[in-house]
Amino acid sequence: MLPSPHAQHAAPRSPIRGPALPIGVAVTAIGMLFSIASAPVVTSAAPETMPEPVAVVQVPTVKVGATVAADPCAEPSVLAALSSGDDAGAIAGFGGGENFRAAVVAGNAPCISLSDPARLWVVVNKTLPLNPPEYEPAGLDAVPLQMTTRSGLVRSDVAAAVGQMADAAAAAGVGRIGANNGYRSYGLQVTTYDAHVRAQGQEDADAGSARPGFSEHQTGLALDVVACDAACGGLDGFGGTGQSDWVAANAWAYGFIVRYEEVGTPVTGYAPEPWHLRYVGVDLAAAYHAGGYHTLEEFFGLPAAPDYAP
Ligand SMILES: [Zn+2]
Repeated sequence: MLPSPHAQHAAPRSPIRGPALPIGVAVTAIGMLFSIASAPVVTSAAPETMPEPVAVVQVPTVKVGATVAADPCAEPSVLAALSSGDDAGAIAGFGGGENFRAAVVAGNAPCISLSDPARLWVVVNKTLPLNPPEYEPAGLDAVPLQMTTRSGLVRSDVAAAVGQMADAAAAAGVGRIGANNGYRSYGLQVTTYDAHVRAQGQEDADAGSARPGFSEHQTGLALDVVACDAACGGLDGFGGTGQSDWVAANAWAYGFIVRYEEVGTPVTGYAPEPWHLRYVGVDLAAAYHAGGYHTLEEFFGLPAAPDYAP
């Protein structure tokens, strides 16, 4: 699904082009059906006793149209959910996570902004900074896990989900999961990034730490988890632990994706971070998992973003 490592040197293009096709086919099919429906009207030279064409009766019940709305952003249920901040309701109005994704990729979702930092579907990367740069999420809550730093806040929906995830991991016998970092403000990201640059130089810093205004942590939707056994380990020690393996396999069921996988580095520009979880909600995470995606960029058909703009 990912482009080869060489693809990052090619002209920017969507890592996925195929998934737009099914929608196109569906739209074509709908168009053909309407053409069939209207055809008898155009050629109505037939005797008036002619029975009504079967196709006219069948059109309203065609499943293709019922599964994926031809214009989801015209659906009252979608607009109502969006205006009330009910992201899950909006996704449901599209027909679920996969239909939502497909509509975005096909350009059939003009009411969905991937750059709205308050939405579950926001994409933040090296070419898509936070807008506004000093955005602060509403409704922050304490991460209900043992913390190893004082950055222990995330959005309340994320806090609830990560608590459930950690409980499930413990119940599965893989050990405790703690957290290192949740929400980081713009100001804290300035400090964090500057410390990385001083310690590693800018190139290495950019592979492991976002520049201020470019961090998912600023949305309140991301957190870094650690493995806690007798004591909690650090970020670099997370990969290879039972907790890490469990998270990689199961976090999606709680609405999280592992945002920076090793295979995604050419797309994201970040070295692998098995500890960095991004909350997208259960519907989108399930579609991400089922579709075998490894970056949010390919999931939404966005160009690879391995580098900051010059
Ligand atoms: Zn992180």
